[in-house]
Amino acid sequence: MKPWEAYIRKAVPYVPGEQPEGNRIIKLNTNENPYPPAPGVLKALREMNGEQFRKYPDPSANMLVEALADSYGVKEEQIFVGVGSDDVLGMAFLTFFNSERPILFPDVTYSFYPVWADLFRIPYETPKLDEAFRINPEDYKKANGGVVIANPNAPTGTALPLKAVEEIIKANQDVVVIIDEAYVDFGGQSAVPLIHRYENLLVVQTFSKSRSMAGMRIGFAMGCETLITALKHVKYSYNSYTMNQPSIILGTEAVKDREYFERRVADIVRTREAAKIRFRELGFSCTDSCTNFLFVTHEKAGAKELFEALKREQIYVRYFAVPRLDNYLRVTIGTDEEMETMYQFLTSYLKGL
Ligand code: PMP
Repeated sequence: MKPWEAYIRKAVPYVPGEQPEGNRIIKLNTNENPYPPAPGVLKALREMNGEQFRKYPDPSANMLVEALADSYGVKEEQIFVGVGSDDVLGMAFLTFFNSERPILFPDVTYSFYPVWADLFRIPYETPKLDEAFRINPEDYKKANGGVVIANPNAPTGTALPLKAVEEIIKANQDVVVIIDEAYVDFGGQSAVPLIHRYENLLVVQTFSKSRSMAGMRIGFAMGCETLITALKHVKYSYNSYTMNQPSIILGTEAVKDREYFERRVADIVRTREAAKIRFRELGFSCTDSCTNFLFVTHEKAGAKELFEALKREQIYVRYFAVPRLDNYLRVTIGTDEEMETMYQFLTSYLKGL
């Protein structure tokens, strides 16, 4: 080992789902939205002429912040935007988790949390979800350096009732509690109204799922002005111009079209509820997901073999080779047509077992 190697920051990166290329692929592995973004987004995109690229973007992304403030009924000073909610969450870990005490998040949750904690040298503990993958709020009532809860949770898809979320926030008023609501639009109860009552609460959301804009990379946080100002100070100490101008413009258009947003969310929820029935008919059991994905396991078919068989058919789902999850598959809700192709393959595969 070279002497300088001892001073390299060690990091074990988060591994995102595959992004395979090809026309015939059915991609149900990274919880993207199968429908296009709102028509206004596509129109604004066509109207871009390069002028938007020549100058630096507005570092405060004011146009987008204004649209979000209007849509969520909060003040502009209560909103922080970033390059996907991963950027917002990473900034929040860096900004708020500076105590000697461990932060708390469940053992089964978004696998980026331990990666940021390790990167920023934040100690952490991971209370175990119960057999049905439920959070016990009691586990979050001990001394800690902060709390992070994905609600609804990933990859399980299940949601904690708002009452239980509030109980956790209330019990932790000495630290910051982050509620990651990446999937909330598909059926969870949002904690946004609680930001007016709890100054220690930061709610994080994304445009990647319910607004069909994963490729644009837009995420945002809502919280009291003190939390948002602190986030901005850290962000501006690192890189002022993170969000590019097309994302600011197109994100704003997406927020303006509430009718399209609600209609597409309803389409996905309808397909999801039908999928729960179809999967059960095929011998799977699944958690009661209120997201845009299902978390399924089969009584006879092994998840890894099934994952590989689906992949050979160009149907990509997500498999996690980790304890507790290694007999489950996480399946993003696609179009009805994509889902039908998958059911047909599953039917013939399971018959052959
Ligand atoms: N939180 C959760 C729970 C997620 O599953 C994801 C998607 N990988 C994210 C945050 C980040 O999404 P994005 O950066 O695209 O907003």
